[in-house]
Amino acid sequence: MRVTLDWLGVSTFRLTVGDLVVFLDAYLDRVPAAPPIGLTTADVTRADYVLVGHSHFDHLWGADRIAAQTGATVVGSYESVRMLVDAGVPNEQVVAVAGGEPVQLGDGIRARVFPSLHTCLWCLGAMDATTVNTGDLGVALHERERRMAEGLAAWGEVPEILDHVLSGPHARGDGGPLIYLIETPDGSVLWQDSAGSWSALLGGLTPDVALLAAVGRPNRDGEPYQGSLADFVADEVALLRAGRVALCHHDAWLPPVTPALPVEPFASELTRRELPVEVLELDYLEGRNIL
Ligand SMILES: [Zn+2]
Repeated sequence: MRVTLDWLGVSTFRLTVGDLVVFLDAYLDRVPAAPPIGLTTADVTRADYVLVGHSHFDHLWGADRIAAQTGATVVGSYESVRMLVDAGVPNEQVVAVAGGEPVQLGDGIRARVFPSLHTCLWCLGAMDATTVNTGDLGVALHERERRMAEGLAAWGEVPEILDHVLSGPHARGDGGPLIYLIETPDGSVLWQDSAGSWSALLGGLTPDVALLAAVGRPNRDGEPYQGSLADFVADEVALLRAGRVALCHHDAWLPPVTPALPVEPFASELTRRELPVEVLELDYLEGRNIL
């Protein structure tokens, strides 16, 4: 079976397995200042499934339109599904999951769902790949929320961003992030759309390809990661024992607050650790054969 992957910016991908078309997240309609992907939701005429990692706008938005235009079934958290139904997606076209569910997508193709974690949005340290961030441990939820609101207020000072984020619905928090292991007859793809994880869940998944979010202050097991973003990604690759890895969420998706992060420092850290993994550097809409 031919298995191809298009990166569509942020953590959104289009995975095709033979005739099956699966979107991973659906955020194609970005702010005008973001680099063009070459595809908008209006262009999408074929999709069988949309898997949603979490409920934030830069992941979930667009899933309702793709569902309406293609008849695709959307799989996501209970919060993502609630928002989609509120947006008019019929109940027959949504599947709510929380982790632990094997979802059959096609003949010999299934998505296994696992609970995951969001980056620590309440930590406001340096956001490049190699700066070592430490501290911010043990912060209680209400204090996290206060700090997060303070940090996000800066986004609201950019009119284009404010207009964009006010143009659609908003979730209760992140809705509970999920990761997916998509198993095909030709191999498996692990997809994560925010830089956080329960480390005990990653061991033993051994995907052929891991698509890992590389942005923000990572979250390991519920606390801010003590180290750099490149260290965190390398830790995940080591735990997963992935054969190949591609980064996501590292593009300039919401200028000017999100500069693009180069892949090189991540690749260097993997090389330094002598991890047997191939780094796939993807451009938008490339249709790369990955398995
Ligand atoms: Zn998010």
